[in-house]
Amino acid sequence: ETLDRLCIHGSVENKFPTESFRAAFDDLDLPTEVVGDGESLGPTDAVSSFRPRPEFHDVAWVHCIRAGYDEFDTASYEAAGVPLTNSTGIHDTTVGEMAIGYMLSLARLLHVYRDRQVKRDWYAPPYERPFTVENERLCVIGLGTIGEGIARRADALGMEVVGVRRSDESVPGVSERYHPDDLHDAIGDARFVAVTVPLTPETEGLLAGPEFEVMRDDAYVINVARGPIVDDDALVSALESGDIAGAALDVFDEEPLSEDHPLWGFEEVIISPHRGSATNRYHLDIANLVKENVRRIRDGEPLCNRVA
Ligand code: NDP
Repeated sequence: ETLDRLCIHGSVENKFPTESFRAAFDDLDLPTEVVGDGESLGPTDAVSSFRPRPEFHDVAWVHCIRAGYDEFDTASYEAAGVPLTNSTGIHDTTVGEMAIGYMLSLARLLHVYRDRQVKRDWYAPPYERPFTVENERLCVIGLGTIGEGIARRADALGMEVVGVRRSDESVPGVSERYHPDDLHDAIGDARFVAVTVPLTPETEGLLAGPEFEVMRDDAYVINVARGPIVDDDALVSALESGDIAGAALDVFDEEPLSEDHPLWGFEEVIISPHRGSATNRYHLDIANLVKENVRRIRDGEPLCNRVA
């Protein structure tokens, strides 16, 4: 296979500065070019992009710079014979640290103190409210790259970690694995439930009313995967009725979250603007995946992270 050009679609700007990403390929002997919408692309072009575009169906290979490629219609890439790769396998540390940060804050009230700081309020919470994460049970739903990244860190903090996945491969730090059919058993005793599955027809609405009822009243939901996996309306109702205690959310049905959305209003909900993977080195992590696949194409090896 020949590649004549590596195109970087301007939509990568959603995750990092386009020019930093382009410069990360300076050591690659392949011309790189930033392209916008509607660019004419040909069979010797490779494209890295945040968003899918119709013109990508004519190229040699498309790389989605996200792990969650749910916005890309895999069937259409298969029909066009264009390989599609994604960016899984690299978010264990970035999203893992973020999830640990949420849990420590929810346990020790950093978010509450910061809210009060804005009002210069020397706040004393109810005695019963703060707790340590040590010895608390965490259920991680989806034991892939991110799930394992969270589990290993939580295990190091002395938490009791269980998880849910379809296959029965063991995962470091996870003491017990449940099949998705036994989701209610898995989440029933957990203080924290972390969602780390891809968005698929099976995972859409995975956490909804019945799950919040099964969960402990003092439990917290963490969603770092995709918004529609957690039913927003049911989550708001569960927070209002006290079925669960709080949540930390990085992802939403609609992003940005609309200004009048009720989720903004809860003291015990931490909202971050889909920045679970955001660090100043993220463009390098993604560029390394792309470079590895450029090498594989040239050497005639199968692509890594191929999803269509
Ligand atoms: P992986 O593919 O490495 O892991 C996903 C895991 O989910 C797999 O190990 C799979 O295990 C498990 N899984 C799939 N379907 C189900 C199911 N129905 N029930 C239970 N487990 C299931 O992906 P990553 O860990 O890299 O990323 C996960 C998701 O996180 C992405 O798809 C993306 O949407 C989101 N993400 C969010 C980011 C952010 O900034 N907040 C950044 C990066 C990713 P098995 O096959 O055994 O079931």
